[in-house]
This record gives sequence, structure tokens and C-alpha cells, in this order.
Amino acid sequence: MNPDDAKDETCIVCGKATDGVAGFAHLYHDGRRFALCCPLCVQFFQRAPARFAAGERPQSIVEDLLADVKWKETGRW
Ligand SMILES: [Zn+2]
Repeated sequence: MNPDDAKDETCIVCGKATDGVAGFAHLYHDGRRFALCCPLCVQFFQRAPARFAAGERPQSIVEDLLADVKWKETGRW
């Protein structure tokens, strides 16, 4: 998966194709562009952009973030 590839882009967080998806977004981190399919995935990415950019397994990052949220019980996502 190459985030710089403009065609056949997939969401960096959940892996869904962003092509034609309403509400998809592009965020930049460290000079690279990342595709996000929805506001929820944007929030995940914004909480740990360096980890996603480093190519860590998105699923484990999301699990960490969710655990973090549970601890803090912020109640909003
Ligand atoms: Zn997504």
C-alpha cells in the first residue's frame, strides 16, 4: 500500500477504499498525504499521526487509542 498513490486510495485507518466515499478527507503528516474515509477515521489518525505514518499496523493503533479513551472516559469522540 502506497499512500502517495492517488488512485485506488484506501483509508489509512480502516483500509476501506476512499474512492467516491462521501466525507472522505486527506490529511498531511510529515510531508506525506494520507487518505481517511470518514470523520471517525480522521480522529483516529489525528490522535497518533506519527504511528500511522510509520506504517504500524492500524488495528493495533486503534486498539491502543480506544483503550486510552476508556481510561480517560472522556465520553466524546
Ligand atoms: Zn476509514
